[in-house]
Amino acid sequence: MKNILMIGTGGTIASEISPDGLAPQLTPAQLLALVPAISELCNVDCVSLFSVDSTSMTPAHWVKITQCVRENYDKYDGFVISHGTDTMAYTAAALSYMIRGSKKPVILTGAQKPISFDSTDSKVNLLDAFTCASSDDMCGVNIVFNGRVILGTRARKTRSKSYAAFSSINYPFVATVQDGVLMQYIKPECEPYPQFCETLDTSVGLIKMIPGIDFELLEYMTRRKDAVIIEAFGVGGLPSYGDDKFLETVIEAIKRGVTIIMTTQVQNEGSDLAVYNVGHRLKGWRNVLEAYDMTTEAALAKIMCILGSTRDSDEIRRRFYEPVAHDILYRSGE
Ligand code: ASP
Repeated sequence: MKNILMIGTGGTIASEISPDGLAPQLTPAQLLALVPAISELCNVDCVSLFSVDSTSMTPAHWVKITQCVRENYDKYDGFVISHGTDTMAYTAAALSYMIRGSKKPVILTGAQKPISFDSTDSKVNLLDAFTCASSDDMCGVNIVFNGRVILGTRARKTRSKSYAAFSSINYPFVATVQDGVLMQYIKPECEPYPQFCETLDTSVGLIKMIPGIDFELLEYMTRRKDAVIIEAFGVGGLPSYGDDKFLETVIEAIKRGVTIIMTTQVQNEGSDLAVYNVGHRLKGWRNVLEAYDMTTEAALAKIMCILGSTRDSDEIRRRFYEPVAHDILYRSGE
């Protein structure tokens, strides 16, 4: 049998009712005891790294999870991370870059309903996660949830209440798990040994355009961050309300060395700045990157990893457009 390390971090799956609402209380060992079928699949050791609602997780938590996987990498065949669903897609994206190319499965799962509830998705999600973590065919960072296996670079929480909480954005599900049977459609790429990245530049901001938005909000952010992701409308562009304040703000920021990443607030199909004049005029600037079909979660985690190790704008550009775990497929002319 395979040896799997379960890393507990909290979330609804481990929560109990308290007078102030649901709060994580169960340890990973207590979760495992409630799903005895897992012990027939694999040998499991547990570590409780922290016990938080994932709303309160920060990049420092991603670093701790990465360190835990690195320190135990040679001892185990796979890893299951139980995690709150609210920021699971961010953690999954981050781990895809921080534990890059892992040939061993690193599986995140959680639940919309606590494991102690009569009606819960916790047990099946945990069992499915261990099925994937014990498989010879799985590798890399994936979310296993509601019978679907989603690449860590492609996941997004798209439902706040129902069991089908996660979608795979601009990429198919890589596998499904039904009644304990793993059906793999896409074999992910893995390398003999992962590259670990534990130094992040967390000075990254995200601003969502709204009609009539004040350019000073963008200026405020670009003066305080090393990189700013702009979630624009449609295929992308910057508004001009009778002047060029947004474009000028971006140009001033990139002259100061700030990295600007243009993306779209439309969930599916990605950006393409070249299409409209409002986006096209950004295309010539080397410090302006475009997320294309990447998720915002992946773009954010990727730039934190890249800026954690380089300030060279050509290298930032090269590494941002270099595909990692199928995070970016479409790169018009880059
Ligand atoms: N608020 C919870 C969390 O993210 C939600 C969940 O786990 O489903 O920790």
